[in-house]
Amino acid sequence: MTYSKGLHILAEIDTAVIEALTDYAAAKLLLQKIIEKHQLTIVSEVFTNFEGGGFTGVYCLTESHISIHTWPEFGHLSRKEFLELSGIALLGSTLGLQTLTSCESAKGIQGQMVGANHAIGHLLRKAISLPISQTHQTKVLIIGSGISGLTAGYYLQKAGINDYEILELESHIGGNSTFGEDASGRYPWAAHYLPIPSPENKELINFLAENNIITGFDEHNLLIYDEYALCFHPDERLFVKGFWQEGLIPNMDISDEEKNQIGAFLTKMNNFKAAKGKDQKWAFTIPLANSSNDTGFTDLDKISMKTWMEQNAFTVKPLQWYVNYCLLDDYGTPITETSAWAGIHYFASRKGKAANAKDDDVLTWSEGNGFFDETFGQKSVKAYQNPIFGLSD
Ligand SMILES: Cc1cc2nc3c(=O)[nH]c(=O)nc-3n(C[C@H](O)[C@H](O)[C@H](O)COP(=O)(O)OP(=O)(O)OC[C@H]3O[C@@H](n4cnc5c(N)ncnc54)[C@H](O)[C@@H]3O)c2cc1C
Repeated sequence: MTYSKGLHILAEIDTAVIEALTDYAAAKLLLQKIIEKHQLTIVSEVFTNFEGGGFTGVYCLTESHISIHTWPEFGHLSRKEFLELSGIALLGSTLGLQTLTSCESAKGIQGQMVGANHAIGHLLRKAISLPISQTHQTKVLIIGSGISGLTAGYYLQKAGINDYEILELESHIGGNSTFGEDASGRYPWAAHYLPIPSPENKELINFLAENNIITGFDEHNLLIYDEYALCFHPDERLFVKGFWQEGLIPNMDISDEEKNQIGAFLTKMNNFKAAKGKDQKWAFTIPLANSSNDTGFTDLDKISMKTWMEQNAFTVKPLQWYVNYCLLDDYGTPITETSAWAGIHYFASRKGKAANAKDDDVLTWSEGNGFFDETFGQKSVKAYQNPIFGLSD
């Protein structure tokens, strides 16, 4: 399209994505992007959501103006762009339409649930009696071949204790650290990363060094991690009201109050990271066993993260969404059901030190923590090649 002075462009758009028509936030951002891209100058603006209806909005520009009005009851929006620069309207309406249609195509992702075999679990709950099929005599019996069971086998074997058995009720090892494999490669089913350990976590550091994940030290005696195992800082993005923003912490279309609360929350978490109890132990660290028993911190286990946030004036929606997201990701429970101690632990416990990684960086493999199934399992041959599989057999 070529521009001639006084060109007016009116776009009438129908969409099935009614949510996009009820809140002006996404449309406003879209218009901002168009305005920025074409270096136009905003003189003033008015945007209003109509309760239970659509929205209307207008930017007055030094150059002209741009406006939008929606009718969600008809799945319809109209955009009038009165422009003095060629091509802007075409770009704007194309961009708008793509945004709306991309929302539609995101629907209907295929998938399935995997996990523990509940049918077998329920057999145990019902206390069914089965005929004895095998009899074993063993000094140490490990029940479950998840990371805990495999680790126990690995260290027993390292300590020269070979008289142990591992029982597993599924037909594979790994528990929550199980992985899958197909023609495209390996992929984790659940646990997929390990935060780099803090300097006090000697057992884990030794284990990682034994298995060449730690490859040496730099001149300051800082650990060097295998670059192939270090996960580069993920380019995480949020899809907010029809737009992508960089990073997981909400920063797009938020008020000053929301921004301030997010900043204050992150500072508070950093303070918790450095906090020690009366016993001089870290308030929050990994492994949990090394944490302080100071009730000033452990009492946080008695209230939910949501209650703690509200008591500390962390009330705004984007912040609570972010914390909820993190806790769902790590614990599988929302802020209402995760204790404040566990919630703060998520943000304050990672204190790794390394020459080539930041304190909260993580290690990962294509099979996720399934990497450890094999590392522990192969070295503890009994665990890997010969666990006693239970009822699923
Ligand atoms: C979705 C998800 C994502 C996670 N992501 C991470 C992550 O990224 N990083 C991380 O460090 N942690 C993560 N975790 C946590 C991590 O998976 C667990 O902390 C860890 O795998 C627990 O290992 P476990 O051996 O204690 O238990 P499990 O992995 O649960 O293993 C228990 C094993 O015991 C078996 N078993 C149970 N009952 C019996 C019985 N009666 N007889 C015989 N066998 C039995 C089970 O079949 C299972 O194989 C995640 C967890 C989940 C669910």
